[in-house]
Amino acid sequence: MASPIVSSLQQVFFEQFNVHPRIFRSPGRINLIGEHTDYNDGFVMPAAIDKSVFVAIGKRNDGRIRIWSTDFREMYEGQVSDVCKSGMGWPTYVLGVLDQLQQEGYQPKGFDMALASDLPIGAGLSSSAAVECATVFALDAIFGYALPLDRMIRLAQRAEHSFAGVMCGIMDQFASMYGRAGHFVKLDCRTMEYAYHPFIADDLTLLMLNTNVKHSLASTAYNRRRMECAQGLAWVQEAYPDVQALRDVTLEMLDRQVRHRDATVDMRCRFVVEEIARLHAACADLVNGDMVSLGKRLLATHDGLRDMYEVSCQELDYLVEKVRTYPGVIGARMMGGGFGGCTINIVRTEAVDALVAQLSVDYQKDMNLPLTAFSVKPSDGTSEVLI
Ligand code: ADP
Ligand code: MG
Repeated sequence: MASPIVSSLQQVFFEQFNVHPRIFRSPGRINLIGEHTDYNDGFVMPAAIDKSVFVAIGKRNDGRIRIWSTDFREMYEGQVSDVCKSGMGWPTYVLGVLDQLQQEGYQPKGFDMALASDLPIGAGLSSSAAVECATVFALDAIFGYALPLDRMIRLAQRAEHSFAGVMCGIMDQFASMYGRAGHFVKLDCRTMEYAYHPFIADDLTLLMLNTNVKHSLASTAYNRRRMECAQGLAWVQEAYPDVQALRDVTLEMLDRQVRHRDATVDMRCRFVVEEIARLHAACADLVNGDMVSLGKRLLATHDGLRDMYEVSCQELDYLVEKVRTYPGVIGARMMGGGFGGCTINIVRTEAVDALVAQLSVDYQKDMNLPLTAFSVKPSDGTSEVLI
């Protein structure tokens, strides 16, 4: 039987457009470890999660586009011949994908679409990539383009760059499309080689704690960090011309080429180099089933993001500090670009309810904000929902 969200999307689509749709889903993602490493040619360790964006879609032949969002309760209407990005809110991500398809020579003849989601929007779980991936997958399926997955994720990434103006790496779209139930995926962002690693932990829960803040600093700080990394790389390259990215850099190279020139740039680069090493070690922990060691590495990543990369904020630090000594918590860290969004926590399942109850009260009292807590499971990537 179809899940409630799928049944209601089906019904909404029929009410709006008077035909029966096909339905596709694309999940959000978490990242276990490997933060701010993707744009330094490093490695990341994401998983798709059991919360998705759902897209109901039907073909048209008259050049019209109609898109209904159940979350924003709004209809967008336009023409395939006139796809522009100006002043658009939520339709930006769908239209960005359409624009990229057109730039690659595909000419969809029109469609009706309805979107629904059980994935928190704007919380760092990449709902934007989920919309893009669901859209490209759905358009590919109904128009029969048969694009390979790797082309679809590149296309979705370009849609985010060109229409949403976010210069994201490839991790989010990759994780949404390539996720596999019960697994994290270690991705080499330079070669796009990847390997699935099972998360076998029956007694552990992956708990997300949403700070419910998104500080405006986020995008400028993100761009500044990218520039600082590029500066450090350039200084290293003066002495080591074979080095192509921070991924190739060692701490000794930073000692020699960067430390005496700029303490801040040195610290940023040092974090990235350490974080890539930490990811490899964490992956070995996962393979060996050593969750205690894995958890310590998550905490070390948080400390590095707070003190060296300086992309945390008081709400994120508050949550990690509170849980790190809590019985049953294996590891915790801020997740994503920083300055808000969620923390990821590995918690013994029997301790989850008490932790959430206690922390919700504390967070409200000390930060004057509500806390949203939910658990996630590594899940399969983008697919059609058979109804
Ligand atoms: P994140 O990707 O971390 O969730 P972003 O700010 O990158 O946050 O993307 C959020 C945007 O993606 C929303 O503002 C909206 O434009 C679009 N979006 C996400 N989910 C939906 C949805 N269910 N329906 C319509 N648009 C959505
Ligand atoms: Mg996003």
